[in-house]
Amino acid sequence: MSEPRLHSWSTVLMGSPIVLSLFTDDRDLAARVFRLIQRYEDALTVNRAVSQVMAVNHAAGLHPVKVSGAVYDLIRCAKAASMVNDSAFNLAIGPLVKLWRIGFQGSRVPGREEIAERLPLTRPAEVILNDHERSVFLARAGMEIDLGAIAKGYIADRVRDFLRQQGVEQALINLGGNVLALGSPQGAWSVGVKKPFAAADGLVGVVDVANKSVVTSGIYERWFEQDGKRWHHILDPRTGYPLDNDIESVTIVSDDSLDGDVWTTLIYGFGVEKGCAVLRQREDIDAIFITKNREVILSSQRQFRFTLLDDSYRISGCTA
Ligand code: ADP
Ligand code: MG
Repeated sequence: MSEPRLHSWSTVLMGSPIVLSLFTDDRDLAARVFRLIQRYEDALTVNRAVSQVMAVNHAAGLHPVKVSGAVYDLIRCAKAASMVNDSAFNLAIGPLVKLWRIGFQGSRVPGREEIAERLPLTRPAEVILNDHERSVFLARAGMEIDLGAIAKGYIADRVRDFLRQQGVEQALINLGGNVLALGSPQGAWSVGVKKPFAAADGLVGVVDVANKSVVTSGIYERWFEQDGKRWHHILDPRTGYPLDNDIESVTIVSDDSLDGDVWTTLIYGFGVEKGCAVLRQREDIDAIFITKNREVILSSQRQFRFTLLDDSYRISGCTA
């Protein structure tokens, strides 16, 4: 019997390459998936003048804004992740993201005073939610919500739900860094883990998973160079500067892509040692760290198998 053939469709949405792979040649279904992604992007983006999230931002310091159930749930989840002790995740990071413009035209290292001025506009506790009205109020003028770190994860989960509803049991969805593997053809899907700063398709290794989300966030994705330094797009809410530690990329394996998105950012903030310690308490979340000194550090490996492809890296596990 011949092996079923994989069909793939790609497009660009949310500033990222999007690829959908199915075992049926269903162009129509692919088009519906892309339209679904587009609809969510339209609601959640902060890179255009108009969206539900921008309506909230434009009303900062003025009045609460009612949003759709989906947008409200995502904002509530993003606020909860931001309020975790020592969290590097901050949904109110918008004013700093807009100041740095990393990944967009005109990025530059801002002055210390400019950063200091904006830090007080990034307090997650001042994102006021009203469950009853499903409204969001930014308490201070100048505040801005930015869901850039989790929008793709949320949307990937919705695409998975939609495909399941349509009776699709096996598929691969890649929203530029957020991969969702539905089902398990021949036992597992293989998802590549990119080699940081390497040319196009360089891989450190592959992760084999079934029915899991694999999210990678890395400092090599969006960055610019100034004053002989690389400045990347994951900001430390405590300092207003890009997070600075040993980690070059973090891959999270979990059931939901939303968790993958939250945890990549949390783990960046914790660093390797604390990240490993925290993950020991979380059976549902696994991580693969790639460090600047070419180590691949694996957490428990409960939910994946990892194969190293580049032997200039050394593999180890999270140790006590
Ligand atoms: P990518 O878009 O490359 O997948 P991430 O998922 O890591 O990247 O999210 C990075 C984006 O999240 C940034 O471009 C910015 O919009 C936003 N962001 C930056 N720093 C933070 C932070 N500390 N907390 C929450 N969101 C952040
Ligand atoms: Mg992310």
